[in-house]
This record gives sequence, C-alpha cells and structure tokens, in this order.
Amino acid sequence: MTRIKIGLPRAMLYHKYHVFWENFLNKLGFEVVVSPETNKEILKKGTTLAIDESCLSLKLYLGHTEWLLSRADHIFIPRIVSLRKNESLCTKFMGLGDIVRNTFDDVRIIEYDIDATKIDSELWNLIKVFFKFEKNIFKIISAYRYAKNEEKRHKRKELLDQLIQIENNDSKKPTVLIVSHPYTTYDALLGKPISAYLKSQDIEVIYADIAPTEKVMELSEKISHDLYWTYNKELLGGIEFYRKKIDGIVFLMVFPCGPDALVINLCQNKINDLPISVITLDELEGDAGLKTRLESFADILKIKKTKNGKK
Ligand code: SF4
Repeated sequence: MTRIKIGLPRAMLYHKYHVFWENFLNKLGFEVVVSPETNKEILKKGTTLAIDESCLSLKLYLGHTEWLLSRADHIFIPRIVSLRKNESLCTKFMGLGDIVRNTFDDVRIIEYDIDATKIDSELWNLIKVFFKFEKNIFKIISAYRYAKNEEKRHKRKELLDQLIQIENNDSKKPTVLIVSHPYTTYDALLGKPISAYLKSQDIEVIYADIAPTEKVMELSEKISHDLYWTYNKELLGGIEFYRKKIDGIVFLMVFPCGPDALVINLCQNKINDLPISVITLDELEGDAGLKTRLESFADILKIKKTKNGKK
C-alpha cells in the first residue's frame, strides 16, 4: 500500500521541532518528505513568492514549501499562538498556514494548533487533526509519547555534547556564542557558513539555543523582566547560561525582523562585558564583506584572550 507523503519544509520551526515531527509522523506510518538544505534556487523561489516586506525566514519557508508541492500529498504546518501563559510568539507562527494557503492554489495542509491560553493540549489537537487518518486514538497517543521521548533524548544529547565541547576547549581558543533562532543558525545558506567560517578562524563556536529550557526561561529575567516573546526569552537565557564560558557573542538576524532588532538592541545596552557582533542577513548579502567582519571580530577576540590570559 502506498503511504501518504507528508512534507516538512526545512525552514522556520522545522529546525526546532524536526525530531518530534519526524518521529511522530513516521510512527503513524506516513512517509515523511523533507525539503533539501536551502540552496540558491529555493531562496530565489521564496523571494519571488513572498511579498517584499516578509522576513527572509518566511521567504525561505515559501521556497521550501514550493519544492515540496509536487513531492508530498500534504504539507505539515503548526499554528503556534502561544507556548506559555502570558507569553506570545512572532505573529508569523500563527499565520503560516494562511500565508501558505494564500500563496499556493492547490496546496493541502495539515495544520495543528498550539495555544497555551486555551485548555486544549498539543496532544488533543494532534488527535483531532490525525483522527481522519488514524481511527485508533491510542496509536496517536503512543506515537506522540514516543516522539516526545525521542525529542527529549535528542535535546539532552545535544546539550551534553556542547557542555563537553566547552569542557574540552583548549583555553587559548576564544569561544563565541551564536545567538539566533535555530532556523537562522542551522540554515545552510544563513548561519551554517558563518559558524564554519568562525571555526576556520580558530574560534570555538557554541550555540545559545542549546541550553536547558526551564533554566533559560528563569535566567532570561536577568536581562529583561518584560519580554514576552518566548523564543527570544529562550535565547536571552542561553546567553546568561553560557556567559561565564564565552569570549564574545555573534547575533545573527534576518532582515527585516522586528522582535530580533528590539531584543538585540536591548542586549547591546545590557551586556557590557563581552564583545558583540551583530550580523543582519538578507537575500542580497554577498559574503566578501561578511568574511572581513568576521575575521576582524575573531582577531579582536584572540587579542583580548591573549591579553587576559586563560579564562
Ligand atoms: S521572529 Fe523575525 S525572523 Fe522569525 S519569523 Fe518573526 S519576523 Fe521572521
């Protein structure tokens, strides 16, 4: 029997939740189709499809979705309104399904809600959505539990690996904390080349998004009490979590992004003990200027590290 193909665009929240989504869908017997790493063609397509005012992340999302249209029966899109009481997210995560529906005529979407302000749990919403494919509710519950456990295991391993990396760092090498959303950090055209270039400059690179969730929410309060965007709070907490172990911070943001512009500005005002570099990425960015900036930043960190001696 041919399996139903469910497409996951390798963009936006895929980079945060892919372990959960892939395991959940596989366990329910679907064939999961993931779009490839971002390439110039996907970027170009996304830029053509999106309205000019869209942030680059959304443009990439549309490019990835377009790639999947002829290869998957449905596109899986979460509609995330809120993950915690009294907190919210960038509105793009609420409207993603509508944006995709308005962009493509013949798209079939599987959309499920996460909204901490409502009584319905994520599991209940998944049951409601997947009941039309799987009438055995216990199978859906079991797939959900399995996928959540796999996600936890994956996160624990990621964190442990990063902590071991910090522990093993030859202390002459400066350590840089990359602070950006996973969909920027781990995108093949956006964050990955930046991490790779810093590493080539003999810089140890670690990531703010790899940190214990509950702890970072608490720590984020040290930088701001008022911030209510959950994903930005997580990143601020990540800075505090690693603050004593790092020599500098690289903020990566895509253009245009209101929440990040505000939060980065806040950090620049509040963090005075570490060199900070802010890199704004857009679809026009050539990498020559970028490399020069990263090289100078790496040099500053190395000079500072030599002056200060070992941490
Ligand atoms: S937070 Fe910024 S980059 Fe992310 S989706 Fe919203 S506008 Fe785009």
